[in-house]
Amino acid sequence: MADVFRFADDLGPLEIVHIHRPSVGLKAVVAIDNIACGPAVGGVRMAADVSAEEAFRLARAMTLKNAAAGLPHGGGKSVIFADPKMALADKERLIRAFASAIADLTDYIPGPDMGTDELAMAWIKDETGRAVGLPREIGGIPLDEVGATGFGLAVAIDVAARHIALDLKGARFVVQGFGSVGRHAARHLAAKGAVLVAASDSQGAVLDETGLDIPALEALKAEGKSVKDYPRGRAVAADAIIDLPCEIWIPAARPDVITAGNAGRLKTRLVAQGANIPCTPEAEAALAGRGVLILPDFIANAGGVICAATEYQRGTQAQAFATIADKIGENTEAVLAEAKRTKSSPRAAALSLATAKVRRAMQMRRW
Ligand code: NAD
Repeated sequence: MADVFRFADDLGPLEIVHIHRPSVGLKAVVAIDNIACGPAVGGVRMAADVSAEEAFRLARAMTLKNAAAGLPHGGGKSVIFADPKMALADKERLIRAFASAIADLTDYIPGPDMGTDELAMAWIKDETGRAVGLPREIGGIPLDEVGATGFGLAVAIDVAARHIALDLKGARFVVQGFGSVGRHAARHLAAKGAVLVAASDSQGAVLDETGLDIPALEALKAEGKSVKDYPRGRAVAADAIIDLPCEIWIPAARPDVITAGNAGRLKTRLVAQGANIPCTPEAEAALAGRGVLILPDFIANAGGVICAATEYQRGTQAQAFATIADKIGENTEAVLAEAKRTKSSPRAAALSLATAKVRRAMQMRRW
């Protein structure tokens, strides 16, 4: 536990619960960071290499993301130590055991994350009566299928582009990680006139300065192939898309992909963070020093959780998209204006606005 308390501060974490059920091989940690704004919403991550510290850091990120988005939810996250590629029947047994173990943690509402999906949320809802990111059949809005986060990212980029006088018509953009977030962001940006010049996935990348055909790339991915199998353009190593000149660079894959070591290779005006913590603090500082605008993850990629919160309130998909457009548009404006006013980075401005909201909510509660 010492590692977790090393990070504790006046916001949280409220609770870190370790779960061990040797009979079913379940080892998990639930971190409930802060519930001043409402019950904590946050994903259930299943991976072999997770840690309690990671659960807490992700839970804090959710506290800030949910507060920034003005949702009536605090932040939480849970991790299950297991290989998500196990047989489905084993996964169901493990997830149901996890769900029954958290049944009394009513301040925590689970959602999907790496290694879990809508079906897993259906099992959790079945056991506990609460979960978001559910299948349509039981009232869910499948947020990856409908592209809630990618849509929100495109809204944030639209606002940021105006701040740096960038015309989206003809603007070249690159997507690292052509998955749920990346491909939907690409569709919505292309609809605004921007041109996708490179895309990557874990197996490789493809470049075409004249523009890639997004539906064709989506069709390849749907067949289980890689973007590098795209028949036109130039197939290159996944990492090569860092060097391609563009106006907008979208990390939508893994954390820490841009570091002090490779930030100098990026030739872009705007980095729009679809992934969570894709740039190290040193990389963000180096990019800002070169005048690159960075849209911070917890502002730009909040579409998914806004969709989940709408689902929880029994709202419709159309209401979710309208709320995403409103909230992400307003927040991006507010963050960029505050950053300009205080001569700070958008991340520092966003952190200060979000923490102030959580602190105000904490003052309204009896502890
Ligand atoms: P996903 O699994 O659907 O897509 C990820 C894509 O990244 C895949 O195409 C994968 O092949 C690719 N990838 C993996 N490693 C790569 C590498 N080294 N180089 C290039 N591509 C690589 O996942 P997703 O749901 O789109 O999530 C992407 C990121 O966005 C994650 O960091 C996730 O935490 C974050 N995020 C997702 C949502 C959401 O609603 N899905 C919301 C907020 C944040």
